[in-house]
Amino acid sequence: MDWINKVNTPCYVIDERRLRENLEILGDVKRRAECKILLAQKAYSAFATYPLIAEYLDGCTASGLYEARLGYEEMAKFGRENHIFSPAYRDKEFNEISKLCGHIIFNNAKQYEKFKVRANGVSCGIRVNPEHSTQDHGIYDSCGEFSRLGTTINELNDLPEGIEGLHFHTLCEQNADALVETLAAVESKFGKFFGKIKWLNMGGGHHITRPDYDRGLLIKTVKNIREKYGFEVYLEPGEAIALNAGYLVTTVLDVFKNGMDIAITDASAACHMPDVLEMPYRPNIQGSGMPNEKAFTYRLGGNTCLAGDIIGDYSFDHVLSEGERLVFEDMAIYSMCKNNTFNGVALPSIYLLRDDGELKLLKEFGYEDFKARLS
Ligand SMILES: *Cc1c(COP(=O)(O)O)cnc(C)c1O
Repeated sequence: MDWINKVNTPCYVIDERRLRENLEILGDVKRRAECKILLAQKAYSAFATYPLIAEYLDGCTASGLYEARLGYEEMAKFGRENHIFSPAYRDKEFNEISKLCGHIIFNNAKQYEKFKVRANGVSCGIRVNPEHSTQDHGIYDSCGEFSRLGTTINELNDLPEGIEGLHFHTLCEQNADALVETLAAVESKFGKFFGKIKWLNMGGGHHITRPDYDRGLLIKTVKNIREKYGFEVYLEPGEAIALNAGYLVTTVLDVFKNGMDIAITDASAACHMPDVLEMPYRPNIQGSGMPNEKAFTYRLGGNTCLAGDIIGDYSFDHVLSEGERLVFEDMAIYSMCKNNTFNGVALPSIYLLRDDGELKLLKEFGYEDFKARLS
């Protein structure tokens, strides 16, 4: 880990070896389940690593025009697929989307009817809502009351002419048991259409590369449904692709007391790891423990003026000192593609730690990046 002191902070470091390990697992699942797996770019869109991802996966999926264009430019060139789902398409963007994407998923039949004549040669699908929640993160539960994501069976009497696929996405960081339950709900409600479709996309939220994930159950579930109906199955995880495959390295800027020891870092929860506040969760720091587990406990926070820009309380074996570096784990996903320049805080640089240990600076950001988004 001698690279920790070579990087400029704050920075994300993508760990190519870890990424490849995840891709090996996903490649194995694909082969055994005989399904296709796409990268959901909203979780991870470090396109410098798309050549590696394209060796293992079938393509990527987008949430809107810009991600679709990124997938087209950086993934489709390897002969891989480019899919998109958006809750509602914008009229002025649709023609371009239909050129970039081979598969377009609509949130309801009305959206499909509106755009279908402009979706020439595109395989079109509809997102369904099985109304079966398996998690309690309200913000990520697309099956909650009055959900705006997907069509309920009450609103879908017939499969519109020309629709080739169905899509559902209801999971978040879940195991295969939640998929089994959800698929049963989808089948009981929408199974009457299963004989007419060419593909079923089971969305993301499958934590396939987590050590305790039941891959055998996933493979069995996918195989069974495929063989029963004869359609193609897609999975489109985001997290699972780059899970634990990146770090956020930060420098301690100051240490002081207010009832407890407080340390300010040049990484901000609000700017650089927004899911810490939004999800919320506690990221792990290499060599740290829970509060009071080790000798010295600190509250770590970023250098913005937001009182709540707090990463969490951590304990260490030693006293933290100014200039010291800390390494946050699992920072490749929902980080680079979600960060912001609130308070004029600089965006972290992005490095790639190659398989062979070589460190490569992929990108640095500066004042111009901050200013370019303002007017
Ligand atoms: C967010 C999302 C994904 C990826 O979800 P992960 O939790 O990162 O696996 C896939 N498909 C759709 C439609 C999504 O909204």
